[in-house]
Amino acid sequence: MAPPLLPRAPLGSSLSVAICGAGIGGLAAAVGLCQRGFSHVTIYESAPEIAEVGAGIQVAPNFCRVLDGFGVLEELKKQAVRLERNSVRRYANNKELGRTSFASLEERFGFPTFVVHRGDLHKALLNKAVELGTTLRTNSFVEDVNFEDASVKIKGQGWKKHDVLIAADGIKSQIRGKMMARRGEVDETIDTGEAAYRVILNRSAMEEDPELKQLIDDPVAIRWMGPDAHIVSYPIKAHKAYNIVTTHITGAEDIPEDWTNKASKATMQARFSAYAPIVRKLFALAPSDELVEWKLRIHLPLTSWIDNRVALLGDSAHATLPHIAQGAAMAGEDGAVIAAVLSKITDKKDVNKALLSYERLRKTRADWAVEQARITGHNLHVPDGPEQIARDEMIAKASQGVKSTSNPDKWGDKDVQARLYGLDVVAQAQQESARL
Ligand SMILES: Cc1cc2nc3c(=O)[nH]c(=O)nc-3n(C[C@H](O)[C@H](O)[C@H](O)COP(=O)(O)OP(=O)(O)OC[C@H]3O[C@@H](n4cnc5c(N)ncnc54)[C@H](O)[C@@H]3O)c2cc1C
Repeated sequence: MAPPLLPRAPLGSSLSVAICGAGIGGLAAAVGLCQRGFSHVTIYESAPEIAEVGAGIQVAPNFCRVLDGFGVLEELKKQAVRLERNSVRRYANNKELGRTSFASLEERFGFPTFVVHRGDLHKALLNKAVELGTTLRTNSFVEDVNFEDASVKIKGQGWKKHDVLIAADGIKSQIRGKMMARRGEVDETIDTGEAAYRVILNRSAMEEDPELKQLIDDPVAIRWMGPDAHIVSYPIKAHKAYNIVTTHITGAEDIPEDWTNKASKATMQARFSAYAPIVRKLFALAPSDELVEWKLRIHLPLTSWIDNRVALLGDSAHATLPHIAQGAAMAGEDGAVIAAVLSKITDKKDVNKALLSYERLRKTRADWAVEQARITGHNLHVPDGPEQIARDEMIAKASQGVKSTSNPDKWGDKDVQARLYGLDVVAQAQQESARL
């Protein structure tokens, strides 16, 4: 489907934009820029090819709004599962404590909540970026950057000159490290003490058992909360696969950070042995050779995302815990907003002004979302006892709509939902950048 027509940027044919990283953030920025008529957009990606990595990803209403603006939402819906609701449950007996109706969120905010495989989302954005004229250079590791003139040094290829550099190089961003060093700051990601297992089950493995078949058939995202851990699961790939991601507090184990680290099935099963039989049945089906476990890290809020002609975007600027499903959503919003503000300038000397405007529009919101995810993680993992009983009561009350009860699970909190899903960030950016 053709993306909506947008006013062409005055500098569309002359401003050269480099993007470091072809993740969801970098691709979102590329689509947004090309849509506005920028014809010199180059993505440098270190990987030799773009592969389908990751698993399920929730696309919340605010992210749907951005993807709709990019003209990829309808295509993506074909591979997606539209969720009707979530269900927050107690680990030991599978009892539902609270729920959020995603249908009512759609009524409130105009967009659905769905889940897709990250590979499908990535492919949809990549195809759109290339179709609109983005140049994608794989095997291109950005090893140095000049902040004053936005040139980038590509390993084995030398320096390339651009007018703006968008650093969408993920949580391990080297450009962020260089930017912080210039300010005399130390770039440190924080070990959150949490790690994740990821399991994907094929439909055929679950169909034999009526209870598990219902799980993969129902358009419901389930959250099981237990001491020091929780699990999120939902169907993906048009109900042909089931995605399970756990988060657990780690001990002294040395768990790597990368998403491909193979894990022990026996250790995972032991960790969740006190969970209800339905959970244990799911884990018993996990294919041992595909099970992965990795450490979850975040970054403290940065002083600034901008240095001269360089801007951080996505996880490089605001890496988050996954507990309110907003990491990719925030990266997508960043991409749409940076495109909107750059499309307003009429002189290349105003690039920094536009980037500072992007930061004003984005940083408070993204840092706040990171904090909501962190708080949620803490609340989900309390040990059994008085604090857990009080939390469960609050979740139940908030879910029943009892006024003035804030939901300890921010994914289901009405005020958090309003702030996250209710803002049209592109419309806001158009207004703000009218003043550029
Ligand atoms: C378990 C889990 C579940 C999640 N679930 C959700 C969810 O439901 N909803 C949601 O919205 N978000 C979710 N997220 C978050 C989301 O996946 C990330 O926030 C998002 O993918 C970040 O995108 P990015 O483009 O900023 O970074 P990345 O995806 O990390 O992309 C960075 C890219 O830059 C490239 N690169 C790095 N350095 C260089 C260099 N020097 N030169 C060239 N290229 C370079 C990398 O190869 C990579 O391709 C989840 C995350 C986790 C861990």
